[in-house]
Amino acid sequence: MRAMALHEVGQPLRLEERAIPQPGPGELLIRVRSCGVCRTDLHLLDGEVEAQLPRVLGHMIVGEVAGGDRAGQTPGAGARIGVPWLGWVDGTCEYCRSGRENLCPNARFTGRDIDGGFAQYTVADARFCLPIPASYTDEQAAPLMCAGLIGYRALRICGDARRVGFYGFGDAAHILVQLCRWQGREVYAFTRPGDEASQGFARELGAAWAGGSDEAPSEPLDAAIVFAPDGSLVPRALLAVAPGGVVVCAGIHMSEIPSFPYSSLWQERAVRSVANLTRADGGELLALAPRVPVRTSVTTYPLEQANEALADLRAGRLHGAAVLVP
Ligand SMILES: [Zn+2]
Ligand SMILES: [Zn+2]
Repeated sequence: MRAMALHEVGQPLRLEERAIPQPGPGELLIRVRSCGVCRTDLHLLDGEVEAQLPRVLGHMIVGEVAGGDRAGQTPGAGARIGVPWLGWVDGTCEYCRSGRENLCPNARFTGRDIDGGFAQYTVADARFCLPIPASYTDEQAAPLMCAGLIGYRALRICGDARRVGFYGFGDAAHILVQLCRWQGREVYAFTRPGDEASQGFARELGAAWAGGSDEAPSEPLDAAIVFAPDGSLVPRALLAVAPGGVVVCAGIHMSEIPSFPYSSLWQERAVRSVANLTRADGGELLALAPRVPVRTSVTTYPLEQANEALADLRAGRLHGAAVLVP
């Protein structure tokens, strides 16, 4: 099979011919139909998130069961399933036993600790695979598997916030804005200053306001989610939230956060991060998305053009999500 593997930090992914992986006990062999490209893949490429190399990246996988332990059962061979970032947990630590498997210190992640979906085939633990709603095509479903899931978890931390700001309007935000509108929330979209195309995209999807990250929103926010990996956005977002508001950092890596005066945090404002996902998050979002219904905007690339997709993501040239098709 063909795969795009990371061999060295800072170097492009390399196209290679590999043997089809063999599923172990409890694992499924999956023929990959599509795989989303995530900012985390850029962090892996840049060495900001560490992995043992070589590694096949990709953790927004949509595929069909092609063999393995549950192939003869439900979902059986041919069934369409998704493979998210959370690939395995120990199930025994205090986090796992208290519904917080996203924080399991022994967790293994798809496309970081386990070879992922930038390939024609992959293998995944059947217990961590998620059902794909029938109303989505393979390409449209892929962004739900991380952008959607992390966004959903971040939004839940915002509680019943009515006015929600997004700093960075990429794959996660374009999904979340639709969910927010459906829930009766107002979205304020902050993009790179001067990026009018992204601001227009945000308004098209229902944002109440869109502007540059150097601007103040027209109304104080109840919560803000920082998707962009830029630490200087955190003190800015704090200035934009009302007393009692929360700023949620949704990325796995961020540049250093500059110091800020205590008055920015005063009045019970909070800064926190959101990490990974639980299988319960996955089940909830995948049940909710078709009801909204969330529509994803995707740009597809052949598997061999994974490096071009990563470059477009890095440059902010995408509206929505990049998806590889093997
Ligand atoms: Zn991701
Ligand atoms: Zn655990």
